[in-house]
Formats: sequence, structure tokens, C-alpha cells
Amino acid sequence: MRMWMVDPKLMCHQHLLGEHVELHMLTAWIVSGKKVDGWALNNCLEPKAIGARHRQLAAEMMKRGYQHLSPLRQPVVAAHQYPHVRVDNAAALAELQRRCKACCNLSNQIGTLVIAGM
Ligand SMILES: [Zn+2]
Ligand SMILES: [Zn+2]
Repeated sequence: MRMWMVDPKLMCHQHLLGEHVELHMLTAWIVSGKKVDGWALNNCLEPKAIGARHRQLAAEMMKRGYQHLSPLRQPVVAAHQYPHVRVDNAAALAELQRRCKACCNLSNQIGTLVIAGM
């Protein structure tokens, strides 16, 4: 599981839809009482930002003409949990561009390629 936390405009369809699905899976996981510490402590996700992130991704999906019929509410995460967890979105963007040609091309068009020349 991974929240990329990059500007949704810079994500290809596959990664946009993929992160969106993972947010729903994550929420179900947390609501059922399972822990997400492994991912959170590796800074792969921010459990407290799930609701806000989902709104961003859903808005971008609708802009691209996808129907979004899956409302999501921020799952309850205790205030004291994960105090220092934070996804490094600059590093995540570089990683996404390295892994995915479509994301890379998209960023290139918009002019935000992090690893230009690599
Ligand atoms: Zn959704
Ligand atoms: Zn991609």
C-alpha cells in the first residue's frame, strides 16, 4: 500500500486509479481494526490524510471523465498515532517518474519532470 501524495494532475490514469483504490482498501482495513503501522512507519502513507487525499483524487478522476461512485469518509485515527509520519512527496514524484513512463510523460508535458536528463 502506498499513498503517493503527489499532485494528481501529474499521475497517469493507472496510478491515479490505483492510489484511489488503495485508499478505499486502507480505509476498510483501518475500520476493521487492523493496523497499518508497517506502511505508515516507512512513510508510505499518512493515515490521517486519507479523507483529504481521497477528495483530491476523486476530483481529478471526475475531471478526466471517470464516474466516482464511492464516497469515502476519513477513518478514525487516534490523535496520538503516527505523530511523525509523513510521505516525502518530492521523493515519491521522482520515484513515480522513474518507474512509470506514462507518469513521466505527463510530468514532462506539464513541465515538472524531476529527473529530467536521467
Ligand atoms: Zn472513492
Ligand atoms: Zn503512472
